[in-house]
Amino acid sequence: MIARTENIMVLSMGLERYRKKRDFSSTPEPKGGKTKKDIFCVQKHDATNLHYDFRLKVGSVLKSWAVPKGPSMDPSVKRLAIPTEDHPVDYAGFEGIIPEGEYGGGTVMLWDKGSFTNVSEKDGKKLSLKEAYEKGHISVDLDGERLKGVFALVRTGMDHNWLLIKKDDKHASKKDILKKSKSVKSGKTLKQIEKDAS
Ligand code: MN
Repeated sequence: MIARTENIMVLSMGLERYRKKRDFSSTPEPKGGKTKKDIFCVQKHDATNLHYDFRLKVGSVLKSWAVPKGPSMDPSVKRLAIPTEDHPVDYAGFEGIIPEGEYGGGTVMLWDKGSFTNVSEKDGKKLSLKEAYEKGHISVDLDGERLKGVFALVRTGMDHNWLLIKKDDKHASKKDILKKSKSVKSGKTLKQIEKDAS
């Protein structure tokens, strides 16, 4: 019941939660932003635990999931995706250092970015992205620099976590995409981003 209430809050609150968690006089993270484009991004985030953040524009914000093991191009692999607070669309270009003591303190690398096409449907009927999000079953055709082809994000019944799964298409591959360890923005590794900032 608590998880369900939380989910409804995430749907309705927009960026309030994002802003409440941050001190913008301290963190270089963006406050807002606007775009009409259907964009997504993936950040590699060296916080308490290294993880990847998958963000997809739904409505006026980036819906966000922390993916501990990162995305996979292998359709037989299901990656846990834990929903986190909505982020502003300008976050899709963010790379840098979140100061220690701030929420999410650590180094953030822009690991992938690009556009997407919503291909969500149910019983042969097309669903808007918002409908698909609310139903907990999104299908998007990604056109990133690294992630390409159709991915599904599926909410699981038990604990309201989601799974990120590659669909079997011409982009599917057993190759480990996470071996690409440099930023699509700066060409730097996490270590180099950290070093250049200090
Ligand atoms: Mn994160």
